[in-house]
Amino acid sequence: MRAVQVPDAKGPFELVEREIPEPQAGWIRIKVQACGICHSDSLVKDGTWPGIQYPRVPGHEIIGVVDLVGEGVKPWKNGQRVGVGWHGGNCGYCDHCRRGDFFACNVALLTTGISFDGGYAEYMVAPAEALARVPNELSAVDGAPLMCAGVTTFNALRNSGARPGDVVAVVGIGGLGHLGVQFAVKMGFKTVAIARGKDKEPLAKKLGAIHYIDSREKNPAAELNKFGGAKVIIATVTNADAMTAVLGGLAANGVLMVIGAAGPLSVDPILLISGQRSVKGWYSGTSVDSQDTLSFSASSGVHSMNEVFPLERAAEAYERMMSGKARFRVVLSMEG
Ligand SMILES: [Zn+2]
Ligand SMILES: [Zn+2]
Repeated sequence: MRAVQVPDAKGPFELVEREIPEPQAGWIRIKVQACGICHSDSLVKDGTWPGIQYPRVPGHEIIGVVDLVGEGVKPWKNGQRVGVGWHGGNCGYCDHCRRGDFFACNVALLTTGISFDGGYAEYMVAPAEALARVPNELSAVDGAPLMCAGVTTFNALRNSGARPGDVVAVVGIGGLGHLGVQFAVKMGFKTVAIARGKDKEPLAKKLGAIHYIDSREKNPAAELNKFGGAKVIIATVTNADAMTAVLGGLAANGVLMVIGAAGPLSVDPILLISGQRSVKGWYSGTSVDSQDTLSFSASSGVHSMNEVFPLERAAEAYERMMSGKARFRVVLSMEG
């Protein structure tokens, strides 16, 4: 099979021929159809994930078909359409797992494309519990970005405490944000989009945002307060100052949900105390959260806007994603 690997930290992407991997007991082999390129793939490329071993095939936004089922696996069957995301597995028996906090597993937390080879390849193997079912209505390319960018925004929103009719703001209209706006609208929130500059305004409105704030032109906190403040703000940006700038726009009991990896965030405690506001992070989700994301997207018409590249152009596709100029997700298609 063909695969694209990173040979060592900061090394160049290499297109290589490899043996098709065999699934061990409890694992499944997947014929990969599409794999999204995520900013977190830079952890593999740059070697910033502690203990990562090379060579490594990145990729954790995978849609494909079950190709071979390892020993003892229930209930997957050959030919089923499946997705694999960031959460690659957990032990199931540590105290965190027993409480259902699978993201906090401290025995055997597996991350797809980091702990084991991911989806920049024609085939891959993954633990059975990492698999999500894919609805027929979603093509592989449409589904792939939902396995990380999608589930991250969908899951943060549905666990944010916001209720239909509440004002919810999405900061940053990029790969995550353009999905976040759609999910927020379809969940019934009064959705406000916030980004730098005017160019994203028409798109944000087309996706259903009731209002757009150009944070270069106007103070986003003051603008949000014209709507009574936001119950929830989802921060998808990788810029801590952009998060600090919106904090004052939280309503009483409002929550800033941080899902973009920015530097240290400065927060005025008075703002938190006086309005009982909070700042919270959200882990993307497990395979069943991804499955819910795919299902919700298919039934409500949420679509990722994608730029599609063939596998052999993975290096170029990665650069395109890192440039921040892609509109909006970059996806590798193994089907030409
Ligand atoms: Zn990701
Ligand atoms: Zn565990």
